[in-house]
Amino acid sequence: MRAYEHWIGGAERSSSGTERHTTTSRWTGDAVAEIALGDSADIDAAVSAASSALAGWRALKPGERGAVMAAIAHGLRAERELLGELETGEAGKPGPQSLREVDSAAAYFDFYAGLANIPSGELIDLGPGRHGYTIHEPYGVIGVITPWNAPLNQAARAIAPAILAGNTAVVKPSEFTSATTLELARIASEAGLPAGVLNIVTGTGGGVGQPLIEHADVRKVAFTGSVQTGRAIGRVAADRVLPLTLELGGKSANIVFADADLHAAAEGAVRAFTGNAGQICSAGTRLLVADEIYDEFVPLVLDQVRTVEPGKSYGHITTEDQFVKVQKFFDVARDDGATLAAGGAATGDGWLIEPTVYTDVTNQMTIAREEVFGPVLTVLRFGTEDDAVAIANDSEFGLAAGVWTGDVGRAHRVSARLEAGQVYVNDWVAALVEGPFGGVKNSGYGREKGMEALRHYTQSKFVVVKL
Ligand code: NAD
Repeated sequence: MRAYEHWIGGAERSSSGTERHTTTSRWTGDAVAEIALGDSADIDAAVSAASSALAGWRALKPGERGAVMAAIAHGLRAERELLGELETGEAGKPGPQSLREVDSAAAYFDFYAGLANIPSGELIDLGPGRHGYTIHEPYGVIGVITPWNAPLNQAARAIAPAILAGNTAVVKPSEFTSATTLELARIASEAGLPAGVLNIVTGTGGGVGQPLIEHADVRKVAFTGSVQTGRAIGRVAADRVLPLTLELGGKSANIVFADADLHAAAEGAVRAFTGNAGQICSAGTRLLVADEIYDEFVPLVLDQVRTVEPGKSYGHITTEDQFVKVQKFFDVARDDGATLAAGGAATGDGWLIEPTVYTDVTNQMTIAREEVFGPVLTVLRFGTEDDAVAIANDSEFGLAAGVWTGDVGRAHRVSARLEAGQVYVNDWVAALVEGPFGGVKNSGYGREKGMEALRHYTQSKFVVVKL
């Protein structure tokens, strides 16, 4: 087992208090990591370190910051075995999946390293006599708060664009999965990131998350987590006029039209709800199937579900609370009157859940409206294209959506009408780093990933010069 302190100012720093938290592997029952449960004094120290590092970090040329990002990507890959092992132990993911997530964390640093020298301002034509241009400036200290379902990935997703843009960061990972974020900070330091640019304070939402968002020197917060916590953060942010990026939950619709390649759609539909044991905000958990193919398509989905092995295809539910919550949804679905077509129970040792499919679901049922965050699929019928769009959009959420069709016109038409931050046509590909990612409605606002994330970590300044 590894014991960690906070990472502040380029080194481990002892917690101000004595409280600790130990994480245990669901695979072996062994302790994986012990972390400090910090408090507001630790946040003060981390924000102070981040503030002190700002001027020096901003003074570097963009290409110099980019070179450090590339070195961090290299460092992550060099330690992928260690990082994968920690992620498997803490988050309950199978080994190969953890390694893929380390690679994807490295890909964020590589991607933003490549954007370092892309000019970011605009020239604004003011006619003769004046010259106008914009500069995209960093906010300053960014607070990053992450959940437990993809800890290293979500930390990298926010940190890479934030620091490339010239900000510094204080990151609070979930107390259930902090180890890989702490290791990322060490690796970044060894790769040449100056002290104080990236600081990690571990602890609970109340103990360190709240003081982080309340700290007067934190100029923007990127939060990934539940709608409920996002709302609470939004209330604090309103008083502070603090800009936020909120990546919240989802209940994403995956629409299969009669003209689709049904075998590909069945494979994609199962991948969309079972990946990471369904603990993905953008999981495709409402499968909308055209009436005329319903009886043919649902058995294809169930055939595909039988190929999924809990404990191999995907891992454990990460936290005990979530494990209990997923099982409560089995009662909810039964009370709703949904038909259990597959799964519906925990299985094996640890916190594994069978891939679960409910058919005869209507969009008014609770099981079709609330996010489960487990490997649970609801299958609904639709008549016309208009019906499909109406059912898909009848949700408080709007994170992702899928469209399966052989008709290119329909693919574009339906994509345009869906209320979702991203639409996947004839695929389900939430893991890409290159394009913007985020939600509409209660799924949040702001965008991570891609070029667009850089904009969200900067503010523009308009300069006018009289000639
Ligand atoms: P959560 O909202 O309980 O916690 C997320 C983080 O916020 C944790 O680090 C937690 O300690 C912290 N936190 C809790 N209360 C806080 C407070 N008052 N102030 C500041 N920080 C606080 O979410 P979770 O249970 O860790 O994660 C699961 C949820 O996250 C799911 O609902 C899922 O949909 C969502 N999620 C969304 C995305 C996305 O990109 N949209 C990605 C992953 C998870």
